[in-house]
Amino acid sequence: MLAEYQQIAKQCSSSNATYEQYLQEMAEAEIQKRDSNATSRRINAAKIPAMKEISDFDFASIPSLNKGKVVELSQCSYIASHTNVVIMGPPGVGKTHVAIALTLAACRHGCSARFYTAADIVNTYREARESKTILRLETSLRRMDLIVIDELGYLPIDRVGAESLFGFFSRCYEQTSVIVTTNLPFGQWPSTFAGEERMTGALLDRFTHRLEVLTINDTEESYRVKQARKNNKKKS
Ligand code: ADP
Ligand code: MG
Repeated sequence: MLAEYQQIAKQCSSSNATYEQYLQEMAEAEIQKRDSNATSRRINAAKIPAMKEISDFDFASIPSLNKGKVVELSQCSYIASHTNVVIMGPPGVGKTHVAIALTLAACRHGCSARFYTAADIVNTYREARESKTILRLETSLRRMDLIVIDELGYLPIDRVGAESLFGFFSRCYEQTSVIVTTNLPFGQWPSTFAGEERMTGALLDRFTHRLEVLTINDTEESYRVKQARKNNKKKS
C-alpha cells in the first residue's frame, strides 16, 4: 500500500472515484503483492535447477508425450488427491523440463513444492541420519504438497540409500504427491534399488496406487541432438 498509494490516489482522483473505491483499489494492490511475494517464496523454496515453463516446451518435437495430460497436470488437481506422476523416457527428451514446469505450476497454484534429484534426496537422508534429524526431515517432507525426484535410475543406489528411499515413499504415501522422472520402466526399478526385489515391490505398490504416467518412447531422439541437426542443416 505504501508503495502504491500515491499512484492509486492520482488515478482515483482523476476518475472521480469514491473514497470506498480508493480503499478497495488499495486493498487489492496489497493482496496482489502479497500473493506474488508468497509465490516467489514458494518458487525459491522449491530449489528448481532452472526456470522451465510449459509454454517453452515444443510438444511437436516429442510426439509420444501426451500434451493433453501435461496440460491437465499443470492445473494441479492431482495434488489435492495425493496422486503421483511418473515421467519415463530416454535421456534429453524433456523429462526434467516437464517436472520443473509442473513444480512451477504447483507453486503458482499455492502449493509448497521441493525439487530433488534421486542423488540429492539420498544425500539429504544420509546427512539427517548422521545428525540424528531424520524425524525433522520426514516431518518437513510430509508437509510438502509436491516433491520431485529427478533422475531415478541414472546412478545406482546402495542398500542404505535404497532404504532411505523406501522410507521416503512410505512417508509420502497419501500425504504428498511425488513426481519421479526416470529412464527405467518399473520392471527395472529393483536394479536401481540395490537389487531389493521385495522392498521395491512394496514401494511400487504404494507409489502406483494413485498414479499418472507420462511415457516418452525410447525411440524418441534427444531434443538437443534434434536441434543441433536442424541448426547444421540451416548452416549447410
Ligand atoms: P531429460 O530430463 O529427459 O534428460 P531435459 O528436460 O533435461 O531432458 O531436456 C534437455 C534440454 O532440452 C533442456 O534444456 C530442455 O529445456 C530442452 N528440451 C527438451 N525437450 C524439449 C522440448 N520438447 N521443447 C523445448 N525444450 C526441450
Ligand atoms: Mg533430466
